[in-house]
Formats: sequence, structure tokens, C-alpha cells
Amino acid sequence: PIGRVVVIGGGFGGATTAKYIRLWEPRIEVTLVERNPEFISCPISNLVVAGYKNLSEITLPYDGLAKHGVKLVRDEATAIDFEKKEVRLARGAALPYDRLVVAPGVDFQFEKIGGLAEAGPAGRVLHAWKAGPQTTELRARLQALPDGGVFAISIPRAPYRCPPGPYERASVVAAYFKQHKPRSKVLILDANPDIVSKKGLFVKAWNELYPGIIEYRANAEVVEFDVRGNVAKGQVEDYKADLFNIIPPQQAGRIAQPLITVNNQWVGVEFQTWESTKVPGVHVIGDAIAAAPGMPKSGFQANNHGKVVADAVVARLTGQPVNESPIIANTCYSFVSDKEVVHVASVHKWNAEQKTLVPVAGAGGLSAARNELEGVYALSWARNIWADALT
Ligand code: FAD
Repeated sequence: PIGRVVVIGGGFGGATTAKYIRLWEPRIEVTLVERNPEFISCPISNLVVAGYKNLSEITLPYDGLAKHGVKLVRDEATAIDFEKKEVRLARGAALPYDRLVVAPGVDFQFEKIGGLAEAGPAGRVLHAWKAGPQTTELRARLQALPDGGVFAISIPRAPYRCPPGPYERASVVAAYFKQHKPRSKVLILDANPDIVSKKGLFVKAWNELYPGIIEYRANAEVVEFDVRGNVAKGQVEDYKADLFNIIPPQQAGRIAQPLITVNNQWVGVEFQTWESTKVPGVHVIGDAIAAAPGMPKSGFQANNHGKVVADAVVARLTGQPVNESPIIANTCYSFVSDKEVVHVASVHKWNAEQKTLVPVAGAGGLSAARNELEGVYALSWARNIWADALT
């Protein structure tokens, strides 16, 4: 091999990087460290919550990456020694690297909500913001909710993983209620002053499809949660519901936290090679980074970061110049019912004067109206990105 690359995290970002380095330069040895035995997709997981898909339909194996010669290590990366250039593992021997890619996604700041420090990590209060057991558990609790019961979803301040995701979840749960528990309600407790993404499209769908079912509250940050009494406390009032889904504030996944530079939450990177502004030579991608304006924390973006970084890593290890003006894109589809979907899209280009990525004027945009054709596109997009990252 002409170089050794270790990738931490086999999500949308890390899996893509590992695969594309091997595709573009098979002389590089790539080791992917991932704690989970299978990939479970957050995109489409809201349909599992609402009962329109099963978890098995959003679960994929990792063995497709082995076919590209990626070495899969199922373990927990516990620390990075930036001096020695090695990644320590919970069980296996430390992995030395020439270049490192860190793609751990997010971890939750449970401690920012009083009362959640134990109940959050233990899964007694659900976030279901990492697809997996909590996704099916939230589904089960929704099924157990009596007709007339109130489901409350609390949204942290932006930026958080998947800006439209909580509104999508509220929409598809409302669709489930409309069909099966018509007296039930969805209460959205948004810490933000307004709907963060696709506002007009969501509000229109809620008014037309779910009148009287969805109640939206802005500036409704949950600061404390009384687990026993099942009451959420805001800055000025208490919120009552039968079932709470509390999405806590987030920060870069734990292994990346020594690299955090922005707001105690996110890893600052430069946007030509996604190298940490703190430790050069260490590339950080996906949800863990402090994004440039307009760039959401999405699987689509993590996949794009992964390709830019694969290209940069190959260039560095083969002594070629790096691409100095990357362009990346984003499209986020959201289901507003079991079939109808809306999207938002954008393109982000390196700007040499501002030394960051800026949205390209006139590129991207929003759906004109919710429609079923985009429901077909959304499911095709998911199948394609899973295939692109994992097979
Ligand atoms: P992840 O995909 O979370 O991957 C990180 C991986 O690293 C995980 O597999 C984790 O197990 C592993 N890991 C972390 N730390 C360690 C460690 N120390 N050792 C070993 N392994 C480790 N995005 C879209 O583009 N479109 C959508 O429609 C969409 N819908 C969404 C709906 C919901 C409900 C949610 C919650 C998210 C949605 N997203 C969507 C957002 C998308 O899931 C994330 O932006 C994306 O997963 C980020 O990719 P990532 O590679 O940064 O992190």
C-alpha cells in the first residue's frame, strides 16, 4: 500500500469516503471502524415511526464495502492519538494511520435538558434521532397510545441533524392518527422562533390534511423534563402530553469532541479538504462539522463531503494537487403524508474570497406543491444513496 487511511464511523459520510478512496486508488489501505453490526438509515425512518415501513426495509449490511477491499473493524474508537497518528479501540489493537477521516455523526447533549441525564441515555425518554431500537420503540408507544392521546415532539435549537426531519415526523404521525386515532393530536414544541425548513409547504399540508390535529408552538424550548410526572417544562410554561419524543440538542459525536471549535458543539473545518482547523491532516465530515451557511446536516451532504474528502485523501497520498474549488449539493425530501412529499435543494460552491462554501444563486429551490411523484423520487433517492455509500 502507498498509504493507510482509517475512517471512523460507517454512516453516510464515512462509508462513502471508505468506498470511494478504494475505487479511485486501490493502492491505499482503508480501514473502517464502525460500532454497529448493520447500517440503519435515518432517512425513511420517520415512515417506520408512523407505521408505513418496517425497520428491515431501512437496514443494510456492511459487507458490500468489503467487496471494494475496505477492511471492516467492528469496534468502538475510544480515542485518537494525533501525535502518534493512531486510533485506539475498545477491544482491538490501536490502528495506525497516515491520514484519518472522522465521521461519527452526532451525540446528544442530554445534560442540557434537566431530568434527562439518566432517562435519555437509558432510552426511557425517546429521541429516535438515531435510527434503530428507539425507532421501533417509538412506533410501539404510538400504537399503545389511546385514541385521543397527545403526542408531543420537541425540537432543539438549530443547527441539529436533519432540519426538516422533526416536521416530517409530526406530519406522518398526524397521517397515522388521522387514519387510526382521529381524536389524537400532535403537539410540536419548537425551541426555534419559527419552522426551520420548508415552512410554507409544511404549514399548507398541516392545514389542508390535518386540520385540528397538529398544533405548532414556536419558542417552546423544553428546558426540563419530569420523567415521573411526564411533564415537559419550558422557560415560562409547562407542556402536557401523553407521549413525549424529545430530540435533545446535539454536538459532534464523542470521538470528534477534542476537535470541537465552534459553540462547544461542532468541529470547524476548512472547506477545500474538510481538514480540522485544529488538527491539520485530520478530515472531519458529515453532521459533526460546523457547516457553512445554508448547508444542512443531512445524509445527502455527508455523502457529498465523503466524495470530496476521498478525492483530497487520494491527492495527498499520491502527491497530486487537491481540487481547490469543490462544489457540493443537497436535496432533502420530506413526507407530509404516507405518499406525498416536498423537497428543498441547494448547491454550495467554494468561494476563494470568502474562503468558504456559499450557496449558488438560482440553483436549487423548493417543490411547487406536495405531490405523490416526489414520494416515488424520495424512495428512489434513498435506495440510490444507500447503494452509493454501501455497495
Ligand atoms: P451517521 O450517519 O450518524 O454515521 C455515523 C456513524 O459513526 C454511525 O454508524 C455510528 O455508529 C458510528 N460511530 C460514531 N462514533 C463511533 C465510534 N467512536 N466508534 C465506532 N463507530 C462510531 N438526511 C437526508 O439527506 N435525507 C433525509 O431524508 C433524512 N432524513 C432524516 C430523518 C431522520 C428522522 C433523521 C434523524 C435524520 C435524517 N437525515 C436525512 C439526516 C441524516 O441521517 C444524517 O445527516 C446523516 O446520517 C449524517 O451522516 P454522518 O455520516 O455524519 O453520521
